[in-house]
Amino acid sequence: MSIADNIDEIKANLPAKVQLVAVSKTKPAELLMEAYRHGQRTFGENKVQEMVWKQDELPKDIEWHFIGHLQTNKVKYIAPFVNLIHGVDSFKLLKTIDSEARKENRIIPCLLQFYIAEEETKFGFSIAEATEMLKSESFLLLRNVKISGVMGMSTYTNDEAQVRKEFAHLKAIFEKLKWEYFVESDNFKEISMGMSGDYQIAIEEGSTMVRIGSTIFGDRN
Ligand SMILES: *Cc1c(COP(=O)(O)O)cnc(C)c1O
Repeated sequence: MSIADNIDEIKANLPAKVQLVAVSKTKPAELLMEAYRHGQRTFGENKVQEMVWKQDELPKDIEWHFIGHLQTNKVKYIAPFVNLIHGVDSFKLLKTIDSEARKENRIIPCLLQFYIAEEETKFGFSIAEATEMLKSESFLLLRNVKISGVMGMSTYTNDEAQVRKEFAHLKAIFEKLKWEYFVESDNFKEISMGMSGDYQIAIEEGSTMVRIGSTIFGDRN
């Protein structure tokens, strides 16, 4: 199967309102171009340097989503062009994104990452941490970030019920925040959840954005 076939097959199972982020990390530019020529415009990367050189080399109408753990000292490298940062996992990071975006005269859309898995290695806010941030005065002063929704990763397991429960939890977090803090904002609408192994479950549980890598581009080394 070609990359184009893989994209077609995924799209056939994707409701129209769910956006496909093609996760191209570790893959060479030629493979991204194959997806591009088939109409794919949104790509996800998880390393700053890699995203910067790909953005430099590839067509300028690509939308670049940063999906990994982002270090505050590296925000400045992607601030000029990044279209969505999925993994905002601390107030400190959000403030840094805001100040780097201001220097670029941009407003950068961000998703708040929540910790929904059982594994201890996954990054993200707890509800309490996010609530504290959203209620604070210094949050209300941020002008160059736009909170567009939430993101989460499920536990790496074959237990479908477990994965489903975690995605349902993220959806519940989204609804709670929407009603408590973003009821008047049309921007807060995305739920980024679902990868190659679990995106069908994620869609059933309300995902609006799936991040799919290996099913499109093949296994990574
Ligand atoms: C790598 C990665 C993906 C894609 O994983 P696949 O299993 O290859 O689809 C999705 N989200 C994040 C945050 C990732 O790091």
